[in-house]
Amino acid sequence: MREPFQNEPFTDFAVTDHINDFQEALRKVESELGREYMLKIGPNRIETIIKRKSINPSHFQQLVGIVSQADTALANEAILAAASAFETWKRVTPLARAKVLYKAAALLRRRKHEFSAWLVYEAGKSWAEADGDTAEAIDFLEYYGREMERLADRQPLVTIAGEDNELVYIPLGVGIIIPPWNFPLAIMAGMTMAAVVAGNTVVLKPASPTAVIAAKFVELLDDAGLPDGVVNFLPGAGSEVGDFLVEHPLTRFIAFTGSREVGLRIIEKAAANQQDQKWIKRVIAEMGGKDTIIVDEDADLELAADAITASAFGYAGQKCSACSRAVVHELVYDEVLEKVIERTKRLRAGKAHEQLTSIGPVIDERAYISILKYIEVGRSEGVIVQGGKTGDSSGYFIEPTIIKDVAPYARIAQEEIFGPVLAFIKAANFDAALDIANNTEYGLTGAVISRNRSRLEQAREQFHVGNLYLNRKCTGALVGVHPFGGFNMSGTDSKAGGRDYLLLFTQAKVVSERF
Ligand code: GLU
Repeated sequence: MREPFQNEPFTDFAVTDHINDFQEALRKVESELGREYMLKIGPNRIETIIKRKSINPSHFQQLVGIVSQADTALANEAILAAASAFETWKRVTPLARAKVLYKAAALLRRRKHEFSAWLVYEAGKSWAEADGDTAEAIDFLEYYGREMERLADRQPLVTIAGEDNELVYIPLGVGIIIPPWNFPLAIMAGMTMAAVVAGNTVVLKPASPTAVIAAKFVELLDDAGLPDGVVNFLPGAGSEVGDFLVEHPLTRFIAFTGSREVGLRIIEKAAANQQDQKWIKRVIAEMGGKDTIIVDEDADLELAADAITASAFGYAGQKCSACSRAVVHELVYDEVLEKVIERTKRLRAGKAHEQLTSIGPVIDERAYISILKYIEVGRSEGVIVQGGKTGDSSGYFIEPTIIKDVAPYARIAQEEIFGPVLAFIKAANFDAALDIANNTEYGLTGAVISRNRSRLEQAREQFHVGNLYLNRKCTGALVGVHPFGGFNMSGTDSKAGGRDYLLLFTQAKVVSERF
């Protein structure tokens, strides 16, 4: 029997040895910055003429790596390589496939700080956020391995006389994996390896700002003994290869995490039946959020302020689970606002590699410009009571920003900003707060801070989000503990890190033999 799944512990950075180890990993990675990364199609590493620079968002003069970029001809080759590898990989036993994930988890655990250091340099994550991302990647590998072993057991069916019946989960075929840059290790590894452990082969198109981390993970898969062609690594511009991959007739499914706009485009493109296409493509999409924390009149206000601050500004608000709206009962509104401002002032903004930094940069110039535009919109839709400005101009720094007295249907209360911008909205009572919480087109995470049992129960039933948290922050879902994914425009209702997830990468076949 395999030992039961347990979450990988987070590193305690109060311990001097851990600080030293992490600093050593940062130094090692720093000495490796600026290298070149190639595509991997089948067994071949391919260098292209067109390359993209990956830079450090804390310090954009610093080159993290140079990544070859695929065109449609290479995208086609990658799909053909995946299709050919599928014929053998699908016949590898589920247990043997799971073992590759366990080995990858062991290798990743051994090189944990090194991978986290790449996240610091390429994604601008603080030490703790980077460590959480790496821990979650390890969790996905361990969890999905076990899930595949569970699914490989025969599902108990109702018996009837004179017949032997069985149901087996078989893979789908070639998948396209399009992960986000905000959890460039965890979500990228989770989506890729969920597909792979289920017996599929994939083309992995990493998020462009964080392609080096993905390249490092693909190297690690080689070390873990994954056969060539099972994961084909295809960095490239979405505008160049994205539609091509989605529309290809050999593509059987697409797993995507990213913006609502791109997700809807993928769903539309995938729905069109192409010539020589034999199946209906499946799309697993995790999209945005406009997540709310409600604070009730009798709430523990210290807890409320801690929860809001952590959820709004962790990783500079660049999580789809981030709290971008605090909806607060009018009786405690001023007090909660004041406490959140106080805590936000204490956040240490700075370059991600510095140990004490709690809020680093935003990911790139596009995000920087878009977030600053939203802050301008916020200026006319409420009152900026904290932040609102840019920071150190050598990176993409934006101050954690709080805008008070925002109306429930204001743009900054409705549109996903994906940055360190928090709107405070006043509610006349708890029912009104719930109405506001449910008034967006999203439904990903939410939290309620209250001491009132009947209101907590009311929220359980009426707060329409995929991940509802009571008396805690609304970020930081743990694999296996909080299966993660949302409703409505937040996605296709999948639950990453939950028991239902691998089913999305399989189809069930029933064989009945009459005796
Ligand atoms: N799973 C992460 C959390 O619970 C968020 C994932 C995302 O931003 O896509 O905070």
